[in-house]
Amino acid sequence: MIIVMKKDSTQQDVEKIVEVLKEHSLGANLSTGSQATIIGVLGDKTKLGDFDFELMEGVEKCVPIMHSYKLASHEMCPDGRVVEVGELEIGKKKLVIMAGPCAVENEEQIMHAALGVKAGGAQFLRGGAYKPRTSPYSFQGMEEEGLKLMRKAADATGLKVISEVVAHDQIDTAGKYCDMLQIGARNMQNFRLLREVGRSKIPVLLKRGISSTIEEWLDAAEYIMSEGNYNVVLCERGIRTFETATRNTLDVSAVPVVKERSCLPIIIDPSHAAGKARYVAALSLAGIAAGADGLIIEVHPNPKAAMSDAAQQLTPESFGQLTKKVGELARVVGREI
Ligand code: PEP
Ligand code: MN
Repeated sequence: MIIVMKKDSTQQDVEKIVEVLKEHSLGANLSTGSQATIIGVLGDKTKLGDFDFELMEGVEKCVPIMHSYKLASHEMCPDGRVVEVGELEIGKKKLVIMAGPCAVENEEQIMHAALGVKAGGAQFLRGGAYKPRTSPYSFQGMEEEGLKLMRKAADATGLKVISEVVAHDQIDTAGKYCDMLQIGARNMQNFRLLREVGRSKIPVLLKRGISSTIEEWLDAAEYIMSEGNYNVVLCERGIRTFETATRNTLDVSAVPVVKERSCLPIIIDPSHAAGKARYVAALSLAGIAAGADGLIIEVHPNPKAAMSDAAQQLTPESFGQLTKKVGELARVVGREI
């Protein structure tokens, strides 16, 4: 349930409500929007019995939330949440661009990638150090050594670092080097991992599971937020369908659906959706046209030699051409890069 306050309600009105909730062993999440202050009731609302908040001073109305996710819901924060990563804000007019190789491979590779993506307009350097590979015999990532190299390359070029964690015991180490942690598609319902990244309070990019519905994805975001970490950005990276021409099927519809049901920013990963570099530009533009708040794109200084996902990685040159087009489109849809 959310409690919508009247426009002229006072700070004391809000405090009284929070107090009553506390007395009933319930939590409160305050959101001060452009229209009104909204108090989200956290916990089992049956504890309230017949208590009627609409009789309290300053209350406009009480609205039940029908979804299982609450903090991630649109109702809780109708203006949309802005996720802060240091001084960077995700979810406002300016699109966020994250780019870099699938995996960190060595110092020269990640430094070239960082220089290339910075020149192309990215704000984040991406790169996997703990790789979730389908085969146990494939390259599994450089782990902490890779994170160190990524931090060094990002600091040298003025970028933020985003990297994936695949297990909860990697969070402390990754947290030393990363500005944002990625939860990959394969771990979207690893509930222990979700809770732990929630507790870490490090901003999180939550990818959609390969076969997950949008509702399941928002429930996964709720796991992170229920631990007090509201800095969650969703990432649509393609879902598994009967189609085999592309690696996955980019669900562009997820963008307007998420915007309607959730308050969280959403970005598009066209690389893992397409699986082929030549489709990445079209999918990027489709995502931004649909209203996405940014992109995460795989870029490698020498894609042919990449140790993972070689077919889908762009060269720094083609990444630069792509961000130019994204910039032109952004203006048309009221955004900027
Ligand atoms: C990745 O970003 O490198 C990755 C493995 O992505 P996903 O979880 O979407 O497959
Ligand atoms: Mn990849």
